[in-house]
Amino acid sequence: MSAPAPSASRDLLDRPLQFMKGVGPKRAELLERLLLKTVRDLLYFFPSAHKDRASVTPIDRLRLGQEANVRAQIVDMTSRRVAPGREIVIATLQDESGCIDGVWWNPYVADKLPPMAWAFFSGKITKNKRGLRELSNADFEILTSGEADDEEVAAASSAGPASPSFGRIVPIYSLRPKQRRPDGTEPPEVRLSQAFIRRLVWRALEDGAAAGLKDDLPEGLRKGRELLALPEAVRRYHFPESSAEVEQARRRLAFEELFVLSLGVALRREEVAKHEAARRLPLTPAIQQRIDARLPFQLTPAQARAFREIAADLEGARPMNRLLQGDVGCGKTAVALSAMLLAVAHGAQAVLLAPTEVLAEQHLRTFSKLLEGSRVRIGILRGGAAAAERRAFLAELEAGAIHIAVGTHALLEPDIRFKDLALAVVDEQHKFGVEQRRTLRAKGKAPHVLVMTATPIPRSLSLTLYGDLDLSIIDALPPGRGEVVTKLVKEADRAKVYKLIISEARAGHSSYVVLPRIEGDGVAAAEASDTKKPTSKKAPKGLWSEVKGVEEEVKRLREHLPTLRILDLHGRMPSEDKDRILRMLREGKADVLVSTQVIEVGIDLPSATVMLIENAERFGLSSLHQLRGRIGRGGLKGWCLVFGAPTTDGGKDRLKAFASTNDGFQIAEADFRLRGPGQFFGTEQSGLPELTVADLLRDQRLLQEARDDAFALVRQDPELVAAPHAALKRRVGEVFLKDERLGRVDVG
Ligand code: ADP
Ligand code: MG
Repeated sequence: MSAPAPSASRDLLDRPLQFMKGVGPKRAELLERLLLKTVRDLLYFFPSAHKDRASVTPIDRLRLGQEANVRAQIVDMTSRRVAPGREIVIATLQDESGCIDGVWWNPYVADKLPPMAWAFFSGKITKNKRGLRELSNADFEILTSGEADDEEVAAASSAGPASPSFGRIVPIYSLRPKQRRPDGTEPPEVRLSQAFIRRLVWRALEDGAAAGLKDDLPEGLRKGRELLALPEAVRRYHFPESSAEVEQARRRLAFEELFVLSLGVALRREEVAKHEAARRLPLTPAIQQRIDARLPFQLTPAQARAFREIAADLEGARPMNRLLQGDVGCGKTAVALSAMLLAVAHGAQAVLLAPTEVLAEQHLRTFSKLLEGSRVRIGILRGGAAAAERRAFLAELEAGAIHIAVGTHALLEPDIRFKDLALAVVDEQHKFGVEQRRTLRAKGKAPHVLVMTATPIPRSLSLTLYGDLDLSIIDALPPGRGEVVTKLVKEADRAKVYKLIISEARAGHSSYVVLPRIEGDGVAAAEASDTKKPTSKKAPKGLWSEVKGVEEEVKRLREHLPTLRILDLHGRMPSEDKDRILRMLREGKADVLVSTQVIEVGIDLPSATVMLIENAERFGLSSLHQLRGRIGRGGLKGWCLVFGAPTTDGGKDRLKAFASTNDGFQIAEADFRLRGPGQFFGTEQSGLPELTVADLLRDQRLLQEARDDAFALVRQDPELVAAPHAALKRRVGEVFLKDERLGRVDVG
């Protein structure tokens, strides 16, 4: 009758930790900082790593630097004062093979080491001043009392203790609270010991708490993938008997996380498929001919393939839901325009959403030029449009007089209505969220949706973030792309860099100089910058004191390079000013454009050959790559020159990775590796739920399996209404509702 009844163990799960043995109000409060309130929380508090304390090394075989486990008797002990107020404890530890000193920089340890007792020790082998090896600041657990007879000692040593901390693979828990402090800094570790948490988990498991955990994975699916039952997986993940068990347990727990995530993705995809039928837009030879006549070049094979895939979707009754992915400069715009012209040829409307005004204006200009003399009408909605202008735009759009609408977020507002929207294109999708896609969708009767991104993403991310989209890839650049050389340059080379800018200007080419902010540190107004300054007032010197700003840099460069025509551009300018400046540059009336990151997205200026980036350590890897993509567009050789003083290893690795490859996909993989999936797209729209066990880089295979199973389940039960799926449906709701950037998933 030892196994508790399921209901009893379920009650156990809800028990507050405060009432467990060894937990008083004070420790309960510390546990709460780790969000641990009940026994259930504790079971789900998974180790961040494991340490092998299973095998013991005989003392005579200990090596310097080794993390060693020793089983020994405490045969002698002394304390010594090494400095005023500093006392160390030295114990002589002896096993069958020899002796070693155990040293602790903590006088209180003395009381816990009974003379002649046997104990487990786990710590690092170091060398003392006299060159002798010692075991320093080891964790330990007493096995026998000091008076134990031979028989007791033998028993304690051979059977191995039933101990959470020794003689086995032991769990290591992260004791740092997840919530950041109000000022954004990381909180310190909670002052609880690993041994304490281990004992607590151990006790909960011994009480049979895990048996009460309900398994949400359908049994058939679990068996099919050979996954452990949940209670077993939880038990083994905390206290595995072997490293194979760690992996088994981890695989099961990670699978569940990825499965719930993939279910959300599958449901979102289903949601689109459930929409009413889309308008069919077949590509006839006549329409194809009209489109071809408008483009000044032939689509590359890669572009043509993408367009064929899109056209096949547009012909169907199921609304298109497709991602067009391709490196900077691969020519996504031409493909998007072709698709929009196809919609317009059928008498319908299309819309193109861009993340910035500058980019929207550029698209307008490109399209206007290509469509000169045709009957296709393009309209733009500017963010700062005057009321009358806006009203006129709305009226024309609603009447169907505008065939292709271009604009920014402003197009998402509720009063923007179309007569007959059949195709919505989102440029630079990574700057938008899932919700915005949904809003666009609601502006027509089941419109087709094409989203584009120049940020190539690792496969694991495309399966999750964009997992509900079909994928088209443009994997080659159009002909006539110039070679771009990337160089990390030193301050000493500054004169050479400016010489290059001057000689390029003489050849009629232009240069970009990009800075992290509008105003540098010389100017007080912190809130006036494009990127945020640290909130803390005592920012470390060197890190913040030399960040350059556009305003000072323009002045400095004009003094320094008096023969050049230098302009500046940044996000806070009125859009007429931005327009005027870009026009001057295009018309060859300026040589250098000093700007913030606003030019990162999409700017297409064929004469630009130099991209000079200041304070590059302050830019993300993908931003740097986007910036580099702005040059070498007109078939001219380009230089991407990077000044940067990275203060962290991560920063150094980032710049090194940037200089080492020009391949967007490799850049993305490196970025993903260096920053982790959460920050891959910048914290604002990472769009990923938190994964505690699964690791998107490491678990790509598992993700594919979880995704296959999730999609199969949704095909079989599209609303997850069958009783065994109820719990899963709730879980999906929790994950996808917790973070609204993910977008709501309709779980009824
Ligand atoms: P992105 O994919 O980064 O948005 P763009 O659409 O801005 O790239 O295209 C980059 C440049 O390549 C533009 O100047 C465009 O005119 C040119 N381009 C696109 N397709 C072709 C092609 N098939 N042949 C020649 N040039 C092309
Ligand atoms: Mg583009």
